[in-house]
Amino acid sequence: MAPRLFIVIPCYNEQEVLPITAPMFLEKITSLSAAGKISEDSRVLFVNDGSKDRTWSIIEDLAKSDEHYIGISQSRNRGHQAAVLAGLMEAKDLCDITISIDCDGQDDINAMDGMVDAYLDGCEVVYGVRSSRETDTFFKRFTAEGFYKFLAMMGAEVVFNHADYRLISSRVLNEFANYKEVNLFLRGMIPLVGFKSTSVSYSRAERIAGESHYPLKKMIALAVDGITSLSVKPLRMIMGFGVFVAMISFIGVIWAVVTALLGKSVSGWASMTSIICFVSGVQLMCLGIIGEYIGKIYMETKQRPRYIISDRTWEK
Ligand code: UDP
Ligand code: MG
Repeated sequence: MAPRLFIVIPCYNEQEVLPITAPMFLEKITSLSAAGKISEDSRVLFVNDGSKDRTWSIIEDLAKSDEHYIGISQSRNRGHQAAVLAGLMEAKDLCDITISIDCDGQDDINAMDGMVDAYLDGCEVVYGVRSSRETDTFFKRFTAEGFYKFLAMMGAEVVFNHADYRLISSRVLNEFANYKEVNLFLRGMIPLVGFKSTSVSYSRAERIAGESHYPLKKMIALAVDGITSLSVKPLRMIMGFGVFVAMISFIGVIWAVVTALLGKSVSGWASMTSIICFVSGVQLMCLGIIGEYIGKIYMETKQRPRYIISDRTWEK
């Protein structure tokens, strides 16, 4: 029997783009089920992430217009990662496969064919990988590619140029449900679950309408989350850093003693001050890194819910 597919789409303040892209998702479901690759009762699941505009009422109207559209709403804005997780967890007991995708039309919807084919060939996870970023601005491209390289350098392995466009089978999701951390970095966590996986490449287009919600600040926050939730390499680097700085200060001390012996101690004042400033700067930075991890531990110990669903377009 053909698998039941749920397309999971996080939406935050997307009133401009949703009316344009929603029919495209529905069309994809219709054509895939006509080809006999997925079952006819597949669904497009929108996750409203506490939008402040008309996004939720648009989703409710869509749900009324066609049974293939369904939606859930988070009680408030929790960020993209939490929205995707909420959708996946909602979908996992209702379907055989999920595909998560942004709602702005940037990710090529036609790549879903290849993803479903790979699933039918026995893959449980299929990563959508961007083949080009020609349409992104130079700044976005530079920061986004820097993001992946920096992550890899810091010991957080992720699939290069893969964001959150991917197919996951419900079997993998049921295992993934046991990963209880609140610091979410889905693209780094899913590979940890294992199972047979592959990737499908697609070219990334421009946003159809509306504006990006991932300015540099949020991207840095995501990178920090990614590193600290996947790796302890920065903590180890502190150690090496400490040794390095200690060696430099040692040279500084010898130098200070020598200048003092030569009776030129006053002229060494500036260099001593710079060494002190440098060392205290490094110390503060190291404390900051440790603090980042302690903050993570603090959040994890609370075991707060990662998402709260306040509304559904259907009766559960
Ligand atoms: N999004 C979300 N919650 C947020 C921010 C974004 O659910 O707090 C959704 C947004 O509606 C979109 C996806 O996440 O479907 C990706 O966001 P965006 O297109 O703004 O990011 P970019 O593609 O520029 O990285
Ligand atoms: Mg986008």
